[in-house]
Amino acid sequence: MQCPKDKNETLVDGFLSGDLPVKHCVDCQGSWISSTDYEPWRSQQRRQMIPPTYVTREVGRDFIPPETDMKAGLCPECNRYLSRSKVMAKNPFYVERCPSCGGFWCDRGEWEILEELELHDSLEQIFSGEWQARVRSILQSEKERDATIDKLGPEVAEMVFQLAEVLEQHPNGDFGVAYLMRRFDKPQ
Ligand SMILES: [Zn+2]
Ligand SMILES: [Zn+2]
Repeated sequence: MQCPKDKNETLVDGFLSGDLPVKHCVDCQGSWISSTDYEPWRSQQRRQMIPPTYVTREVGRDFIPPETDMKAGLCPECNRYLSRSKVMAKNPFYVERCPSCGGFWCDRGEWEILEELELHDSLEQIFSGEWQARVRSILQSEKERDATIDKLGPEVAEMVFQLAEVLEQHPNGDFGVAYLMRRFDKPQ
């Protein structure tokens, strides 16, 4: 079996998380996780499968995706191009999956981040449209929050966040929003 990122490298037997059998590349340090190994391993994990409800920018602070992360990969089992899906850690990276056999490829260091995010035993979630949309919306609201703090300063920003929450929960909250908008809608 050849490395998805370099056909001249032959993969060797290895393990992730102690007992998940993988094929490892000694050159780029990536790991191929065959679906025939992953499925039985995952079903042995005692942790309940709960969809991840958080994405924290703190995870993977010291992880810089390796160069191979940007490189297209070929499935070592069926030779098809691997599809990629983004994981939004501090430094976003891609996990790859073969659309045909369902095997996964992790470049060097990615598995450890997935473990930290508790996604390692439900890798297929990363490839669901639902999860990706959720990640995008969380990141978007984090960005908006940061920009608000940046423009208003932390104290005023905090008041705005609190007011937004109060209005959101109030049955007539939209009246409050309309009032604020009118206040700022005056012609110069
Ligand atoms: Zn390699
Ligand atoms: Zn394949």
